[in-house]
Amino acid sequence: MDLRFDGRTAIVTGAGQGIGAAIAQELGKGGATVVLADLDEDQAGAVADDIRAAGGTALATAVDVAQAEQVEAMIDFAVKETGALHLLVNNAGIGGPRAPTADYTLEAWHEVIGVNLHGVFYGMKYAIPKMLEAGGGAIVNMSSILGSVGLAESPAYVATKHALVGLTRNAALEYSAKGVRVNAVGPGFIDTPLLQNLDEEMRAGLTGLHPIGRLGQPEEVAALTAFLLSDRAGFITGSYHLVDGGYTAP
Ligand code: NAP
Repeated sequence: MDLRFDGRTAIVTGAGQGIGAAIAQELGKGGATVVLADLDEDQAGAVADDIRAAGGTALATAVDVAQAEQVEAMIDFAVKETGALHLLVNNAGIGGPRAPTADYTLEAWHEVIGVNLHGVFYGMKYAIPKMLEAGGGAIVNMSSILGSVGLAESPAYVATKHALVGLTRNAALEYSAKGVRVNAVGPGFIDTPLLQNLDEEMRAGLTGLHPIGRLGQPEEVAALTAFLLSDRAGFITGSYHLVDGGYTAP
């Protein structure tokens, strides 16, 4: 499907690698002006260079999405540099350490909640007024299969990814009639740097949980995300869309 985003500005957080980089590239191919935001500005800049080399338009900026003032500055940067904001992908997220609930440290709990939940709230809080000014827009919040099922020893990650589904529904209730659609995406395990620290046994175990028989690719998440951001998805809002190789089917 040839999805077009000409004349639209899109911000993608966590765009320096993995799923965020694939989404930024997909939107760039579709003609969007893409603002790539990441903790590591050089990494985001390298992906922006690739988009420009392929004929697209892209800018990079640094952000820690857990810091409200930095998220506000990221949104202001996009509007100042490109004139408006139409699309936002709240993709940045961290896994956090693995430990059962009673052993989960307060420090890890607050860190994961800060990035995965507060970061998405800040993104919507500061982007929605700009989208309303621009005459409408669309947001995708990156949840997970762990937005609908649990995973032992990941209490903070699972809690945040469930919370994003609720936050998405709420914002959709508030803004869809005003022209801003809001959806959540729930990937299964995707072969990105987030999974690189896993040993082979753990990887094989995760692969076996997907009836399709493999892990997902970032481009497969990017394809769904781009569709949800596009005008082809004009009647889709307030919903949670899985791209999970059948993980949640059993
Ligand atoms: P990734 O490879 O680790 O990439 C995440 C990117 O986000 C990195 O560039 C990272 O920067 C950046 N980032 C981390 N914390 C940030 C912060 N506070 N502010 C701004 N940027 C930050 O992860 P991924 O696998 O592509 O995952 C992307 C999203 O998909 C996450 O929300 C994740 O929870 C979700 N997801 C992933 C999977 C999976 O299996 N991979 C499955 C379901 C959902 P640094 O590298 O500099 O830290």
